[in-house]
Amino acid sequence: MSEGAAKKEEKPRKFQAIRGTRDLLPPETALWNRVEQTAHEVFSNFGFGEIRVPIFESTDLFARSIGAETDVVSKEMYTFGGFEEFSAKVREGMLSEMSPEEMISLRPEATASVCRAYIEHGMQQLPQPVKLYYMGPMFRRERPQKGRYRQFYQIGAEVLGGSDAPAIDAEVIEMVMTFFDRLELQGVQLDINSIGDRNCRPKYVELLRTELLKVKDKLGPDSQRRIETNPLRVLDSKLESEQGIIATLPRIADHLCEDCAAHYAAVKHQLEMRGVIYRENWRLVRGLDYYMRTTFEITARGLGSQNAVCGGGRYDGLVELLGGPPTKGIGFAIGEDRLILSLQESGKGPAQQGRDVYIAWMGERAHATAIRAAKDLRKAGFSVELPPVEQKFGKALGQADKLGAKYALILGDNEVSEGLWTLKTLADGSQAKFTEPDLLDHLRKSKRVSS
Ligand code: ATP
Ligand code: MG
Repeated sequence: MSEGAAKKEEKPRKFQAIRGTRDLLPPETALWNRVEQTAHEVFSNFGFGEIRVPIFESTDLFARSIGAETDVVSKEMYTFGGFEEFSAKVREGMLSEMSPEEMISLRPEATASVCRAYIEHGMQQLPQPVKLYYMGPMFRRERPQKGRYRQFYQIGAEVLGGSDAPAIDAEVIEMVMTFFDRLELQGVQLDINSIGDRNCRPKYVELLRTELLKVKDKLGPDSQRRIETNPLRVLDSKLESEQGIIATLPRIADHLCEDCAAHYAAVKHQLEMRGVIYRENWRLVRGLDYYMRTTFEITARGLGSQNAVCGGGRYDGLVELLGGPPTKGIGFAIGEDRLILSLQESGKGPAQQGRDVYIAWMGERAHATAIRAAKDLRKAGFSVELPPVEQKFGKALGQADKLGAKYALILGDNEVSEGLWTLKTLADGSQAKFTEPDLLDHLRKSKRVSS
């Protein structure tokens, strides 16, 4: 190796976050916290409890529940331990031959995990339905773009139990809408549909396939492929050239069996009773295999083509498919990244979070007093910046300004020996002197006024 090459290697590598992942930084993280806090509050108002499930699970769990043919499972999962072997098995339709221990995947969504947990912990013994919510990162190997990441965050909820009463569907939807309303999310649009059940959907899918085959030549390659694998997904197509054709296809609403039609009508009635405004969208099918009957999607403003902030639907039978007792289920997942983007676009982001008090101190005795003052103020709930080394007052006040502090507490030798502390209000430059207890009182009062 030449000397030059050796030198080159020594140059430290510049690390960057992996494509499709990102750092969330302050002050934006304050908005994330506010959103999550609001979710905790609203969901618990509706009687939901939080569940935390692992970030990785057996690959088989996702393959069985989401469906081996879906994009999520066949192309987008981060799988460890023999990915090649796994995709070969998917291609051959021999997934069932793999032992569950063989491979694990980062979770692309959490419904399957929640259902697994419901079974594993015997939750059918609890008062039904069991109402759970979760929040956390999900992983999908997709093409990164605005509102689409490889590590993204979802906030979701599931209702599991013996009943599929339409009021359950409606209340779950009402809960998401209440959450969005509380956050003042702008341009919220709720679309609903029913995609039938085991009874009526297969017949409709066959009819759809027959009709699609007649117009196959006019469709793009994606849709052509889906005629075989998943004809419903053709209805999802955003391709301009296919819109005219799709408009002429048979609609599932005209092919629902009696039970599904009655369930759908009752869900709509229940939504109306709750004052939830919806739009029926016969093309809303959702991408995962486990959905049946009620499906819904919510879009919001400021997101371009990635404008879906929430997707959900009913999945009766999923728990049974995973080896549990016969169980009805419905749930949704909110894309938290997109929710935050939309809130920011409409100016709902938090302002730079300033400190309440910056303590400008000079001198050893003042330092000791400053440390004690910081302790008391923080205990009283104020955000306090205490500089670690002595600075001239002029420099300290400049620093306080840059940090957006409301007040500077000035502690020099005079203040300490007099027992009168100087508080400077940075917005108008006014100053006043306080004894230690008066100062706390004054700050408490002014905080109450401003909040
Ligand atoms: P899309 O049609 O946008 O791909 P999806 O149907 O794949 O969404 P779901 O699996 O239902 O989405 O997930 C629910 C929500 O999670 C979506 O509505 C979206 O807000 C969010 N979401 C899904 N995939 C991503 C991603 N890669 N990055 C950011 N958010 C995502
Ligand atoms: Mg997707």
